[in-house]
Amino acid sequence: MTHQWIDGVKLPVLDNCDNCGACCFEQGSPPGYLLFTGQITSELIKFLPDDYERFVMMPADAKAEINDYIDRLENELTSGGGPCCWLDIETRRCRWYQHRPSICRDFELNSEECHGWRDDHVNLIDSNADNAATHELDKMLR
Ligand code: SF4
Ligand code: SF4
Repeated sequence: MTHQWIDGVKLPVLDNCDNCGACCFEQGSPPGYLLFTGQITSELIKFLPDDYERFVMMPADAKAEINDYIDRLENELTSGGGPCCWLDIETRRCRWYQHRPSICRDFELNSEECHGWRDDHVNLIDSNADNAATHELDKMLR
């Protein structure tokens, strides 16, 4: 397997995101969509037109998960800094992948940022879904 050095850290060059999800571990909710849960101005729509359209068109169940996240934040049931509420902790996949915001679509596998997230969460990346890392992530949701 080819490896890549970035900032003195060496990680494998990956073909896909299987069993990772590290870049979703600290997002809390789909990045940017909370902006549309408050007052929506024409400037905001112009700033993120594609995300606004996705937010408006997303399935009710996907939006309900964002609203549930907001409720948990407001009731201090979560600190907000844990895994994205759309991340399936066991499979490490986005449960609403086709509705994810632009920043997630633009994020590049094997980029410097990808490397950074994987390095930061090396202990939480594991191919075994029923393991300590999954339980740790589950706790981070609270
Ligand atoms: S950190 Fe990189 S490998 Fe992991 S899920 Fe994100 S893009 Fe994929
Ligand atoms: S890819 Fe999906 S799970 Fe990951 S941060 Fe984006 S919306 Fe959340």
